Amino acid sequence: MNAPVAEFLSATRPSLPPAALPTTVDHPVPVTVAYGDGIGPEIMSATLAILDAAGARIATEPVELGAKVYERGQTAGIDDAAWHSLRRTKVLLKAPITTPSAGGYKSLNVTIRKTLGLFANVRPCVAYHPFVATRHPGMDVVIVRENEEDLYAGIEHRPTRDVVQCLKLVSAPGTERIVRYAFEYARAHRRRGVTCMTKDNIMKLTDGLFSDTFRRIGAEYPDIRQDHMIIDIGTAMMADEPERFDVVVTPNLYGDILSDVAAQVAGSVGMAGSANIGQHAAMFEAIHGSAPGIAGRNIANPSGLLQAAVMMLVHVGQPEIAAHVQNAWLATIEDGLHTPDIWTRHGSGECVGTEEFAEAVIARLGRAPARLARVAFDAATSATFALPAYHRPDVRKDLVGVDVFLDAADAPPDALARKLMPVAGGAFALQMITNRGVKVWPDGHPETFCTDHWRCRFVARGSGGAIAHAQVVALLANMAAAGFDFVKTEHLYKFDGQPGYSLGQGQ
Ligand code: NAD
Repeated sequence: MNAPVAEFLSATRPSLPPAALPTTVDHPVPVTVAYGDGIGPEIMSATLAILDAAGARIATEPVELGAKVYERGQTAGIDDAAWHSLRRTKVLLKAPITTPSAGGYKSLNVTIRKTLGLFANVRPCVAYHPFVATRHPGMDVVIVRENEEDLYAGIEHRPTRDVVQCLKLVSAPGTERIVRYAFEYARAHRRRGVTCMTKDNIMKLTDGLFSDTFRRIGAEYPDIRQDHMIIDIGTAMMADEPERFDVVVTPNLYGDILSDVAAQVAGSVGMAGSANIGQHAAMFEAIHGSAPGIAGRNIANPSGLLQAAVMMLVHVGQPEIAAHVQNAWLATIEDGLHTPDIWTRHGSGECVGTEEFAEAVIARLGRAPARLARVAFDAATSATFALPAYHRPDVRKDLVGVDVFLDAADAPPDALARKLMPVAGGAFALQMITNRGVKVWPDGHPETFCTDHWRCRFVARGSGGAIAHAQVVALLANMAAAGFDFVKTEHLYKFDGQPGYSLGQGQ
């Protein structure tokens, strides 16, 4: 796109999620507020001072989340009082928290997103050229990241000494909802196109469901340009040529990585906010973390959290206050008052601390930017998207076999196959053995490295045969009697005759 800054920012296009609350609100809206860890308290105080000065009609309910709660022995990082507040207010403005990287702690962010059903993570990444240094002056991208599924389901196991595994869960209703949300967002925000990014060339069932759903739902939005890219080249293009993208929809893990890349190349990871949107609640936060290395020094940039708070104001029906804040913030950025993370000798004016930056924004309330486009948030774009309910298709499901995973050390594949064939019984035939997904029997290659984790595929004897659960149980009983250490089973189903399982690599 490479348009001059005045042109690319000229469209009055609020980067805001839909509102779940009425569009005009006179009484204070209760909002749960978490000050977080590291730089969290500093940037939250700065943000709330700006909202207060701007006349935001919110009644804040502070709760404790994160490190202090973990230290009290609550491994979830959130206590009952915080849940009660959240259920009542249904809106959380959250500063970043530190997630302990060891032990049994689960990420609190993931817990909140999934518990409250915040399925859409909306991350606008905008360049503020020429005021914030960027190699991509025309960048204006919104990443819509699926927020509940994928590898972030967090279901991990160690089945053998050699191997650990993580289950990648992708559901049809979850995928349909996020893809439709992205198209609805694009339409409501007058965006040109939606790009879907997956790795469906490798993960044909999981990522294949995502990209197939994108194509199917996309047919209902002929007014919106749409394309699909493999995530690796898509991420490379985002780093090199982000101007070519508009809205991107992608599964959870890819979206997490892609949105940090996008925020950083737009100017700074400290500048982007995000909205986590569900049908019943919403959470607003900066995309960056708690930056413990700079905590307590009054040098953190509060802009990411402020951008999140602006989205929140539109969400709670105060679009005019949101615009009031956003225009003052744009004027501050334009005037060159920059925190150290974005300050440059030639492009900035005064280098300011977190508090001084907030004071500068407050001093500019009522002002509009001179060169960056003034924003005016449109109440119509803050309406909740009415997403249709999911209808499970009526599909015939037949059990046709079972993958039995074994723990067996130093087991040459041919010898393993010879021992397995007699236990298969009359119902099953041993079809193949794989190790880390690669076929090692029959006709394996001696060069293939093998661990102690084997997948043995048993299929129904005879063509098109179906299996009963009792026959799987009998197979496992035979295997137990023969001394096999089976560590997991996966049933092989056909859905309307189509296999619901992948082939082995090399099969
Ligand atoms: P980080 O985002 O905290 O920091 C990355 C880099 O960006 C650091 O150099 C930091 O100083 C800088 N930075 C981040 N925000 C800034 C700001 N507002 N102003 C100026 N500079 C800023 O990422 P990390 O170091 O990988 O993570 C630190 C902790 O934050 C970890 O415990 C992690 O789990 C947690 N985290 C929390 C969230 C969240 O609460 N939503 C998100 C990401 C990471």
